[in-house]
Amino acid sequence: MLSGTCLCGDITFRTAATPKGASMCHCGQCRKMSGGVWASAHVKEHDLEISGNVTWFEASEIAKRGLCGRCGAFLFWKAHDEDTISFALGAVDGPTGVKIEKHIFVRDKGDFYDIADGVEQRD
Ligand SMILES: [Zn+2]
Ligand SMILES: [Zn+2]
Repeated sequence: MLSGTCLCGDITFRTAATPKGASMCHCGQCRKMSGGVWASAHVKEHDLEISGNVTWFEASEIAKRGLCGRCGAFLFWKAHDEDTISFALGAVDGPTGVKIEKHIFVRDKGDFYDIADGVEQRD
């Protein structure tokens, strides 16, 4: 079982499923919402149990972003036409048990850091 919370604790989530596709997203939207790079992994939506009042922000036509309306933590990313949901690895309490598999939207990344971990990079 893997579980996490936002900073203020109003929102909690948990899953018994094995998270997949752990990635670091460098896109402009994640940059703006997280203040940097957003690390996430995904599970089937029905495998993620969320409690608390998630504020959903329709960032684009393809996906919505879930955050805590109180502390502002950016916790979830959900594509409208997929049955999976991504959750913030940084919000997990305790070991996540996953390793980052790829960096995505690297072309949008900020100029204030370099990626030097040898993990696959995708534009
Ligand atoms: Zn919160
Ligand atoms: Zn992103």
